[in-house]
Amino acid sequence: ALSHTLSHTLNRASRSARARRAVESFPVTRRVVDRFVPGETTADAVEATRGLVATGRAVTIDVLGEDVLDLAGARAMRDAYRTLLTALDEAGCAAGADVSLKLSAMGQALPDGTTIATDHAAEIAGAAAALGCTVTLDMEDHTTVDSTLAIGNALRATYPSVGNVLQTNLRRTPGDIADLDGSGARIRLVKGAYREPESVALQRKVEVDHAYERAIDALMASDCYPMIATHDPAMLDRAVSAAVAAGRGADRWEAQMLYGVRPELEQRMVDDGHRMRVYIPFGTDWYGYFMRRLAERPANVAFFLRALAHR
Ligand code: FAD
Repeated sequence: ALSHTLSHTLNRASRSARARRAVESFPVTRRVVDRFVPGETTADAVEATRGLVATGRAVTIDVLGEDVLDLAGARAMRDAYRTLLTALDEAGCAAGADVSLKLSAMGQALPDGTTIATDHAAEIAGAAAALGCTVTLDMEDHTTVDSTLAIGNALRATYPSVGNVLQTNLRRTPGDIADLDGSGARIRLVKGAYREPESVALQRKVEVDHAYERAIDALMASDCYPMIATHDPAMLDRAVSAAVAAGRGADRWEAQMLYGVRPELEQRMVDDGHRMRVYIPFGTDWYGYFMRRLAERPANVAFFLRALAHR
């Protein structure tokens, strides 16, 4: 119960400007953030990519930032992705890399936001395709799901490798998997990082976990390319057996994990011959991302507080 309350508080804090100023001003925060965010610059992201690629992992890179407030902000985010793609290419590690975009950072919530975000994402998808990279559209809170899936479908007409994300805490997800079957889309499956109302989302962890297992089976049986994004070893075991049952070889699905969360589990997947992709977030706007990682796992808060105490 305590950890549930803590998680709720952290989720609220992730959207509060006052909490943001307080957390950002702790001198020690940066050190703790480093565990989950390898740096603030494009060069830091490229450096982290080199290291991961050298150990047999693929990457998906996220330029941190969400909810831009104006067109200039959305264009700046698009440009940051284009700069990143160019830098990956110059470093010789573009082929096989993926970039993860938040449509809210591309202008989705602005007036006429669907068109703006679609255009920005299409420019990035075009630049990515030219370099042998792919694009995945992160999923944000439940109010954005219809729009994000529709934009994914629209982009796939030109760039078939554009991926979407489905969250198993949402009650609608089994239906969304059924709708996407036949599209051949790259689909990342996650439990869901946003606190959602009971009307649209399962509230108990055990229910979300069961929904995740069923969704693994459904995705593996579909013609989509499953990207099983979790740090939960039980779910990874389930994915391995569901892939075998569906007759999928190791090149027809992948596992994904967030940078810094469970490197030893990443290594185990690599050693067992599975495709493993690591999600690398970078940039100055790390607050929302960082707070969701704390909310997911109260032990991370203890880690944060210990670092504060020892500063
Ligand atoms: P859990 O049951 O939460 O955790 C299982 C175990 O993993 C824990 O016991 C712990 O050992 C470890 N663990 C989990 N989280 C942490 C952590 N923060 N720190 C340390 N250890 C941890 N969510 C979205 O809503 N939209 C997205 O687009 C999205 N993209 C994602 C992309 C990737 C590659 C990944 C891995 C996750 C993404 N998520 C996204 C987050 C996801 O929804 C979950 O919130 C998150 O992955 C935690 O759930 P879990 O599946 O790891 O399982």
